[in-house]
Amino acid sequence: MSAAAALGSAAFPLGRAFSAVAAVTSDIEAVTGDGRQILLSRSDVDDFRAGLRGQLLLPDAPGYDDARKIFNGMFDRRPALIARCLGAADVARSVQFARTHALLVAVRGGGHSLSGQSVCDGGLMIDLAPMRSVRVDPARRLARASGGALLGDIDRETLAFGLVTTTGTVSHTGAGGLTLGGGFGRLARRYGLTCDQLSSADIVTADGRLVEASETANADLFWAIRGGGGNFGVVTPFEYRLHPFDGWANGGHLVFPIEQARQVLRGFDDLFQRAGDGLWIEPVLTVAPGGARVLILDVCCSEPPAAAEAMLVPYRKLGEPIQDEVRPVRYIQLQMQDDERARIGGRYYTKTGFADRLEDDLIDLMLETISGATIPRPRIAMPPRGGAVQRVAPDAMAFWHRRSLYSVILQTSGDDPADDAGNVGWAKAKWPALESFTKGFYANTNLSEMPAERVGEAYGGNLERLIALKTRYDPTNLFRLNANIRPHA
Ligand SMILES: Cc1cc2nc3c(=O)[nH]c(=O)nc-3n(C[C@H](O)[C@H](O)[C@H](O)COP(=O)(O)OP(=O)(O)OC[C@H]3O[C@@H](n4cnc5c(N)ncnc54)[C@H](O)[C@@H]3O)c2cc1C
Repeated sequence: MSAAAALGSAAFPLGRAFSAVAAVTSDIEAVTGDGRQILLSRSDVDDFRAGLRGQLLLPDAPGYDDARKIFNGMFDRRPALIARCLGAADVARSVQFARTHALLVAVRGGGHSLSGQSVCDGGLMIDLAPMRSVRVDPARRLARASGGALLGDIDRETLAFGLVTTTGTVSHTGAGGLTLGGGFGRLARRYGLTCDQLSSADIVTADGRLVEASETANADLFWAIRGGGGNFGVVTPFEYRLHPFDGWANGGHLVFPIEQARQVLRGFDDLFQRAGDGLWIEPVLTVAPGGARVLILDVCCSEPPAAAEAMLVPYRKLGEPIQDEVRPVRYIQLQMQDDERARIGGRYYTKTGFADRLEDDLIDLMLETISGATIPRPRIAMPPRGGAVQRVAPDAMAFWHRRSLYSVILQTSGDDPADDAGNVGWAKAKWPALESFTKGFYANTNLSEMPAERVGEAYGGNLERLIALKTRYDPTNLFRLNANIRPHA
């Protein structure tokens, strides 16, 4: 990465870039990080706007309602101000403004926070959506992605050069939040988590400075942002290591009737303990179009076709599939196959935890939960890890939960707000029994009702070090809308 040497705030010229925009006509009501109501003066807001290259949107501005929308339609929040950032200078200016006024701050990367933490009521939304550029350096096998890039942006740009890195499974998810929390995906067993791919990042820290973080520059900050979520600042570009990849995989869905699911899941867990790094299979219990309960094995095998076919033979024999769509396919197609199911603007409620194994009792409970579900779209997914993810020490960087082979994800989705209470109520009732089979959870999960004293479970044995670093880099907890690490008082 070209050196983004520590730049003091004075390095950003705050010239009047948007003098054509109408001046603010009255003081603005806003909310601070600790929940106080304040008034921002017209002149302060005008000065802030004038110093940005991108737009500053107030509630009456055209584009405001589009900008505050995020992936999960459950959240309809109204920030006092939205800074549509075009670059690191805009981000630094926004952080400086937020800090000066102690504002509540939400940072929006791709907007896929399951608990709506990229938008807030009454605070400042630092919106990175306009910052999606990705630049590949094929000779050095590196990709530099701006803070608001989506996973599909990275996949498309890198694959064009016969290169790839680990991203997640839905292409419209943001790389920002996913990388900072860890990042699981179809190639994680082969190459490691998304955060394992980072070679460096430029970050605007809570004091408004832009600093570089890497193994050699601010190494403690670099340790913290690889799994510590959005707690430490706003990353403007991430730089990822890339791996040669021909762009093809054997993948798709292998579908079994629910009657065979117990036997298939038991056999699957046994086989998958010994699976090679190139094989990724996510079991999903769900409802097929037409209403039948089914077990899907969602497959991506990145080995050459003949080896992939051989690896898949025992999985195909676990039962009698009613549908077998696993075939040689472009990897990018697999990466987009769930984009429509995970519709932007749908109403989602999710609970997750990590599980070492798919124990028999857990399998029985998941089947009972899905078979007896009284809501239209119940779903339990078990995305796997293992392979290269497990070969990194849990304290090598902030991401701790490397030893568990699966996540258990209970999810409901809907389109009509009238269905929310039923969906959410069902998930809340079913989760405690499922949760008893899990250990710790992902920082990138739904944190809506998570008691503050439990959030540390996301960080396991790395929590104390993270608290010390949070205290150093963000002592006032400016970046609090995340799996929040509270600084020492
Ligand atoms: C449909 C869907 C599919 C998913 N699939 C996967 C998957 O396959 N693998 C996986 O690991 N996870 C997955 N997730 C979870 C995902 O990792 C989180 O939802 C993640 O927060 C998304 O990142 P984002 O940038 O879109 O989020 P946002 O909502 O924009 O932000 C979420 C958090 O990250 C912080 N943040 C975002 N960008 C930056 C930045 N540039 N600098 C500093 N802080 C930032 C925000 O402050 C906020 O706290 C999925 C989620 C959804 C909704």
